[in-house]
Amino acid sequence: MTDSGLLCLQCEYNLTGTIAATEVGMGENRCPECGTTFDPDDLRARLAGAPRPIAVWDNEKQGILTRYIKMCLITWFMPWRLPRMIPPCYHRRSHRVFRWITIALAIGSFIGLLSLLNFFDPSRYRPSLTNARDVAIFSTIMLSFWMGIILCETLLGIVLVNTITPNDFDRLLPEPEACNRWWGIVGFLRSFILLGAACFILFILAEEYGHAYVRSLGSYDLEQYLLLALVGIVLWWWTALSITITRAPTSWGRRLGCIVFAPIAVVIGGVASYVAIEVITSSIVHI
Ligand SMILES: [Zn+2]
Repeated sequence: MTDSGLLCLQCEYNLTGTIAATEVGMGENRCPECGTTFDPDDLRARLAGAPRPIAVWDNEKQGILTRYIKMCLITWFMPWRLPRMIPPCYHRRSHRVFRWITIALAIGSFIGLLSLLNFFDPSRYRPSLTNARDVAIFSTIMLSFWMGIILCETLLGIVLVNTITPNDFDRLLPEPEACNRWWGIVGFLRSFILLGAACFILFILAEEYGHAYVRSLGSYDLEQYLLLALVGIVLWWWTALSITITRAPTSWGRRLGCIVFAPIAVVIGGVASYVAIEVITSSIVHI
């Protein structure tokens, strides 16, 4: 009998024999290993690469805000749930919405904060969003930062998709709008930018208003604590990614390779955005 490649969704037991037996009237559509019932047509559609909904995120019975908050909380505190929530193939547009909301919230909160500070205390110097040169520098920093994130995610996505997607996946002919699970995991991990943005906002507020309290924190400045917190958030992101990678159906060698690659991707993305910011802002300053 040729292997149909149809596996139990719960325990990945090969159901080729079970399905063949049921089709000739012997037995039923139930996994002999774990007892889960299955629909052979549904399994064939999955194997053919038909996009499936992402659990929680694609449940349109709930409002977008509720789903967004739930996905952020799951990604931050229960990342081990992600590989089971994201099917091997899902609709490409699905997590694109999530990534756009995240970037809009992160950049929007900076602009909002700077506008508020300018509004309440316009006499003090700070990047003013009414001055054309400051707007150019601010936009360059935000754009470079964003491009760095996209570069980092792309490198990571390419490595994850090519390294730890099961070989079975090569036999699939996913529909053009279907996307691989690992792009989804990288996409939801973008929600860590919100924690980073919150840290930066506290940093700006500390610069503005925190000096009265700085001395009470011992030998460190409040700003230094916040920079340490930022490093902590990057480590937290890496831990969440590592946890999801350890769930991948592949060898430990490949898993460890991908876990080690994550900081390399961050360094490449970070250096690229830093260089872009330096080159472009210094040319703007000299104009
Ligand atoms: Zn099973």
